[in-house]
Amino acid sequence: MRIRVGHLYPEYLNIYADRGNIAVFERRAAARGHELAVEPISLGSPLSDASYDLFYVGGGQDREQAMIAPDLAERGDAIRTAVDGGSALLAVCGGYQLLGRGYRGRDGSWMPGAALFPHETLAGEQRMIGDVLLESALPEAPHATIAGFENHAGRTLLDDGAAPLGRAVAGYGNDGTSGYEGVRVGRAIGTYLHGPLLPRNPWLADLLLSWALAHATGAEPAPLEPLADELEREAHDVAAGRARARGGRPA
Ligand code: GLN
Repeated sequence: MRIRVGHLYPEYLNIYADRGNIAVFERRAAARGHELAVEPISLGSPLSDASYDLFYVGGGQDREQAMIAPDLAERGDAIRTAVDGGSALLAVCGGYQLLGRGYRGRDGSWMPGAALFPHETLAGEQRMIGDVLLESALPEAPHATIAGFENHAGRTLLDDGAAPLGRAVAGYGNDGTSGYEGVRVGRAIGTYLHGPLLPRNPWLADLLLSWALAHATGAEPAPLEPLADELEREAHDVAAGRARARGGRPA
């Protein structure tokens, strides 16, 4: 199969080697005989149709976010329609913030978002930085763990009833107080975790790929053939150990 990926603002939102996540999608798809066709979607470029199988948007600083926020907000309808229609999506950090209703940055300015995710984000005084360990809240992967690194001033407040990606076993998570991290809407996942995220958490890459393949084929999502993943497991365990040493959620 050919999996069509729409990579939003790759030249603006690419902090912390977010492109590594795309590389993981490419390698894991290829290992199962599938090809990834990655198309950049940038300022002013038409989102010609909503037929991407998978969207990806990475992280960035407030300055880059302000540059793309109005353009992204205008694409909100198209992105919501695509996700309603079964497209998969992964949004990391700055991209995660701007796929909600909006983000009030450090300088007090309001950046509008795509309003796919049921949340708003407000910048706080203190940055939340360090290794994070989550326990997945996804029904597809109950109790699976997700290891990553967070670095954000934004506090993301989920609406009541919104589904988080996971529970923070160690680290701040969405806002430093709720105990939750990330969000999930349909086949769309948003998270603060980077480092990048997917090399350490290959099951999450495979879940997203299985959703993208389901969109491409019109079939129900089916688990992918397992891969050896020895190095990936080791990378996960090292990061998880660092997060555990950092301790539980700071007060
Ligand atoms: N600028 C945002 C914040 O500090 C996002 C940072 C990021 O993408 N790492 O909250």
